[in-house]
Amino acid sequence: MSSKPNGSQSFLYFISILFIIAAPGIYFRLLNDTFLTLVLNTLSVFSLFLLPTVFIRRKLKWYAWFLLPVILVGIVNFACIYHYKMPINDGLITVAINTNKDEFNELASGYWFSFLIIFCIYIGVYLLLLKKVPEQLSYKKSVKVSVFSFLIISIIPFFDDADYDYFRKLRARYYSVFPTSVLYAANSVYAQYQIMDETKTERDQFKFNAKQSNSQKQIYVLVIGESDRRDHWSLYGYHRNTTPKMLQKENLIPFNNMNTAGYLTEFAVPIILTGIDPSNFLQHTKQKSIVSLFKEAGFETYWISNQTDFGHISIHAAESRNRYFFASDENRKTKNINDDSELLLPLNKVMNQPGNKKFIVIKLQGSHYDYAKRYPNNFDVFKPSNKTVPTSANDFKNKEIITNTYDNTVLYTDTILDSIINIINKQNVISSVFYISDHGEDLFDDERRLSQHAAEIPSKYIAPIPFTIWYSNQYKQNATYQIHQLNLNKGKKASSQHLFYTIAEMAEIQFRHFDSTKSLSSKAFIEKPRYIVGGNLKTFNSDSLK
Ligand SMILES: [Zn+2]
Repeated sequence: MSSKPNGSQSFLYFISILFIIAAPGIYFRLLNDTFLTLVLNTLSVFSLFLLPTVFIRRKLKWYAWFLLPVILVGIVNFACIYHYKMPINDGLITVAINTNKDEFNELASGYWFSFLIIFCIYIGVYLLLLKKVPEQLSYKKSVKVSVFSFLIISIIPFFDDADYDYFRKLRARYYSVFPTSVLYAANSVYAQYQIMDETKTERDQFKFNAKQSNSQKQIYVLVIGESDRRDHWSLYGYHRNTTPKMLQKENLIPFNNMNTAGYLTEFAVPIILTGIDPSNFLQHTKQKSIVSLFKEAGFETYWISNQTDFGHISIHAAESRNRYFFASDENRKTKNINDDSELLLPLNKVMNQPGNKKFIVIKLQGSHYDYAKRYPNNFDVFKPSNKTVPTSANDFKNKEIITNTYDNTVLYTDTILDSIINIINKQNVISSVFYISDHGEDLFDDERRLSQHAAEIPSKYIAPIPFTIWYSNQYKQNATYQIHQLNLNKGKKASSQHLFYTIAEMAEIQFRHFDSTKSLSSKAFIEKPRYIVGGNLKTFNSDSLK
């Protein structure tokens, strides 16, 4: 049975609906990829939706209606690309399902208006086109469309020069184009939670068999920063005086060639905590972290965090016997935003608790966007800033204002670190404070105009991070060898995955699997190629980022 569309209706309008589904991807590829990728991706999206035409030729309008959910998710996808320069991926989904209401509002603030505009345009165009889609398509035409789509899908993998087999190339193509990319990402999040669930027994039974023979009083503190760029520290040569206190600090070793091994918080932090290889990221779910290493060695363990630690991070935070969370919904009932200085209160409390050996992890909110909310007014030194001139996060025209605001967060972190070190120093015991940022931050550094840290392909501004080790005089007397080695290695090519081994060796904790080639306090340390893992667990060589 064939049927002619009435006057103004045409199959072309249906194809136009597919065009608005493909549009965000086209926009993204224009920003990030080669022309060939753009063409192949676009063709693969069109062919996917046109493939079943022969089967639904009698219900074409219905089919167009069924595309509404795809259009709706497409709007969110477009907004993510527009604002975060990143399509929906597993990292964004994980953040979205774990972010509390206030954090969400903070992330979305300044975006609502443009989101509403995108939404209205999308839905408006969709409804207009829908009206013009014919009810049916002739058998002959629909066969042609389906066969042609099938042929296109079949030949696309031949244009892919990756070293995979045919079907893997085909899968990889559809993993990277909307809307199949969203299904892939959602499935990947589900699989990651599934793995954390399945590996629970293995993780629970995991043992380092760690020992420490020193019975003296000791405190080790690992401070994990947030979105803190090494090149914005005056300690590392930045032209602004952003780290005056760390510049003057005695017994402080700054490492000037440290790269992060993960550029999204939920990947970066577990690597710092477990020392696992970024290309084998999920391995961390099968084992415990540095928290348990210290616990086994006889330390009381503490986790003090100003972030919502979820998913991959939460399984290791849970290893701590004592936990203080500030950003949890519980705390937010009374307050919206917690200043990093509030972390000093529980730290002081911990100091007053009994116990000879303490290991403390402190997680800062540091330089996470919204920068203006990270520091009090008296730290508004670089001006004008977002404290007085609101801008949206991706407003590259206001790069200077946003950078000023960012620099104020670095200045504030300098003071927070100084306070933490002073609190520990006052104890007059063997102690050390390690500071490392989870990853860097994009600040409209070049013509790509990237901001924050979620771009699909990480930039060279994301990998380099500050890493400093402070030690007390009591530590110095005990460990001249380690300090000597740290100083010898401070310029070497290091990765955040080395932290685990470095801290273990500095605290003289012995355990099976200790690898001295990964310890910066060891003579055996070896420089190796460095990798960085990000969205959808893709890894990149962090020394060849552009
Ligand atoms: Zn982060």
